[in-house]
Amino acid sequence: MKAIQVQRAGGPEVLELTDLPKPSPGPGQVLIRVEAAGLNFADILYVAGEYLVRTRYPTVPGMEFAGFIEALGEGVEGLQPGARVAALGGSGAFAEYAVVPARSVLPLPPQMSAAEAAAFPVSYFTAYFALRTQARAQPGEWVLIQAAAGALGTASIQIAKQMGLRVIALASSEEKLALCRRLGADVTLLNTQDSLLEAVRNATEGHGVDVLMEVVGGAGFAQSLRMLAYRGRLLVIGSASREMAQMHPVGLMKGNQSVIGVWLTPFLSDPAEMQAAVDFLLPLVASGQIRPVVGERFKLEEAAEAFRFVLSRKNTGKVILEP
Ligand code: NDP
Repeated sequence: MKAIQVQRAGGPEVLELTDLPKPSPGPGQVLIRVEAAGLNFADILYVAGEYLVRTRYPTVPGMEFAGFIEALGEGVEGLQPGARVAALGGSGAFAEYAVVPARSVLPLPPQMSAAEAAAFPVSYFTAYFALRTQARAQPGEWVLIQAAAGALGTASIQIAKQMGLRVIALASSEEKLALCRRLGADVTLLNTQDSLLEAVRNATEGHGVDVLMEVVGGAGFAQSLRMLAYRGRLLVIGSASREMAQMHPVGLMKGNQSVIGVWLTPFLSDPAEMQAAVDFLLPLVASGQIRPVVGERFKLEEAAEAFRFVLSRKNTGKVILEP
């Protein structure tokens, strides 16, 4: 089968189109024929050896995809060969076939396209765990979403609006901000403007934001802290700038503020948290109230181009790779 393999840490140049044996499912596993895989910023960090888990080379990246169940390993119950599903977690999705644990499989409404289904798991589960589980955001609160036209950002706008939050969306172009408005963002601001802090304060009538989804890190982190309202929560979700950030924890005391880490991976092995997330998210996708934004689509052979596209900040929604 065709697969994108990586032998050593690096950028798009280390992605190699290879022919690998088709995997077979072990006990408790499922073999899926991949129709579409989501490309996440985390895949870029994983290939570069900069992710939160250590990358063991050689590896086939790709942590979410949609496809048809081809075969079930020993002891797998409740899944049918031929069914179309999405899958979340681990690696190996940038290939024609992938094997995942049965518990990583998500049933999805049949009206979703393969690309929409592949765009769903990482971004929507992360948005849910960030806003509901970690921030405990309440209706009427202000949330600021960085990189709001991206994969996680578009998912976060939709989840935030479902939760009754007021959304400030930040992105780097007018075209991106227009997408954020179509998804329901209440206020949209260019992240390139000089007076961003003032603009956020004005938009919230001096209140500041109750929740801030920080995905860029680096030098802007200090400014994010200054945007927080009294009892505001800053969610550390990513560091797309790949730069270190600094903070003075004592500064949090005056406003009873919190800085909270968010990482999807540990939630995946917490059945109670996952069930709560599924119970919240699946009715919303089934009824069409939330709908993944599918961005540019690339063939598997074009994986390096797809990586460069995301790195150049051109994408809106989720970039998709198709075998
Ligand atoms: P996106 O589709 O959002 O693409 C990344 C976006 O980040 C860009 O479009 C750009 O938006 C913004 N950005 C800001 N600075 C840079 C930079 N120096 N280089 C590249 N992009 C930059 O990607 P994802 O939705 O996959 O991920 C978004 C962030 O969320 C990442 O930091 C990722 O690691 C994190 N994440 C964390 C998860 C977790 O479990 N903690 C799970 C999922 C994502 P703009 O041009 O508008 O500024």
